[in-house]
Amino acid sequence: MNGVIDKLIKVFKGMRSELESVGWFPGDAESTKWWGGAESPDEVVITAILVQQTRWDVVHTVLNRLRQMGLNGLESVANTEPGYLAGVIKGVNYRFTKAVRLVRLARNITMIGGLETLRHKPSVREFLLGQEGVGKETADSIMLFALNMLSMPISQYTRRVLGRALGIKLSEGYEEWKGFLEGLLPRDLYVYKLVHASIVTIGKKYCLPSNPLCSKCPLREACLYAKGRELPSIQQRRD
Ligand code: SF4
Repeated sequence: MNGVIDKLIKVFKGMRSELESVGWFPGDAESTKWWGGAESPDEVVITAILVQQTRWDVVHTVLNRLRQMGLNGLESVANTEPGYLAGVIKGVNYRFTKAVRLVRLARNITMIGGLETLRHKPSVREFLLGQEGVGKETADSIMLFALNMLSMPISQYTRRVLGRALGIKLSEGYEEWKGFLEGLLPRDLYVYKLVHASIVTIGKKYCLPSNPLCSKCPLREACLYAKGRELPSIQQRRD
């Protein structure tokens, strides 16, 4: 399996210009710009909430508005009334619910001393998962892209792309997928970010739910599905 993963990582490293063309910024491993060009960890957190069930182009427009109004930091969001914020983030789906959740999240993070303090807590993931509107994928995205911690988000694209490429059934749970993937990858921040960005990009562009565009996909040479293999479960892969 390690040989296959090395092959996938090599393909992903060759996708740099493709990743840039869709809004990822695969440069410095530590940079928050990976996450849709976010200029700070605070912007990663804010957009991680805004982007739920919303397109990135809408989120970028709203983020620019937040920047112009000085509301692109958690401290300023914490000091804002949810009703006012809901007006500013007009365009994102579920904006009233998101405004309430964002203000609460910003207040809770600010109360403990900000993201840098959170980063050094032993229970970062538990803290994030305890916040309203922060599910596992959002928590792991914040950890990886805002806090630079090795926590891999599992998206619908991860399941579909890696499910097909590595030959794993899609029905496995979130934590099984996370444990499986993290167990395969080298513990390297750049690789974690690269793998997530590449998988999401391939999942949106080539690995469609039905009729995947295998002949155009960068993974075609390394993908078991493209070669017509059977799909065993994660447990079977481990055995
Ligand atoms: S080769 Fe086909 S099945 Fe494999 S990841 Fe690409 S689009 Fe999906």
